[in-house]
Amino acid sequence: MKQVSFRISHRPEIEYERVRELSIAYDKVSGRIEARLVVEVKTRENDGTGKAAVDLGETVLMACTFDDGNVILYSGRLIKCIRRYWQKVRANLKQNSRSWKQIAHREKKQIEHLLHVATSHFIEECVRHGVKEIVIGNLNGIRENIDYGEQLNQRLHVWPYRKLINMLKYKGELAGILVRDNVDEGSTSITCHACGKIMASNRRHRGLYVCSCGFKAQADVNGALNIYERAYKVSPVKGSSGRVARPAVVSYRLGWHGVAEPKHRDKTLCASA
Ligand SMILES: [Zn+2]
Repeated sequence: MKQVSFRISHRPEIEYERVRELSIAYDKVSGRIEARLVVEVKTRENDGTGKAAVDLGETVLMACTFDDGNVILYSGRLIKCIRRYWQKVRANLKQNSRSWKQIAHREKKQIEHLLHVATSHFIEECVRHGVKEIVIGNLNGIRENIDYGEQLNQRLHVWPYRKLINMLKYKGELAGILVRDNVDEGSTSITCHACGKIMASNRRHRGLYVCSCGFKAQADVNGALNIYERAYKVSPVKGSSGRVARPAVVSYRLGWHGVAEPKHRDKTLCASA
């Protein structure tokens, strides 16, 4: 008989009431044995009434809109970089070989860490904004943008997003926030938030959405505003100026030790002429 010992790390910010279960599972991809501790925790009180919407993507990992029309963006560049790097390394190795699996494991751990950084920060922002409900657009839009050198299959391509949604769900629940991910994104990325026109050609390169009505916005900002409107049947509006929001956009970069504060609050990214 072989003896196996585990070191279980827990999240210091979460107090748990009791241990419910310890499960030990074999991870097929990494070839490792993993232990999971299932604990019961107390959820935080939440008497907020606010709403938020999230658009998931690659270059911009999350574009998040609040009721006031303000938007925060979390850059996906570091995650994209890491995935590309490890894919290049893996390309020279035999699939499912020992070293291939080790690399897959390292990649997974690095990505998961960054997803924790982003989701924890966003849930705290939601608490600060008095958010009680979050909707997330579905993953259909993400399929379009596969441009990795190595042909990735769909399952591998979307796993960070599934992971991210799961993190938002459980972290949201701990903060007393309901998280839904069943909103049909449909044509939200090609619809103009200002005039409602649906034009595929409006989605210009470099991530800018430009409409003939004069509306110009970062494409992910436009997408998030539309997902909000679709989910809640009302547009996030700042002030009484009507339907067209002029959101202040704050972009965050992800780092290993947390979210980097933006150098400047960029309002020029979203403006209606
Ligand atoms: Zn328009």
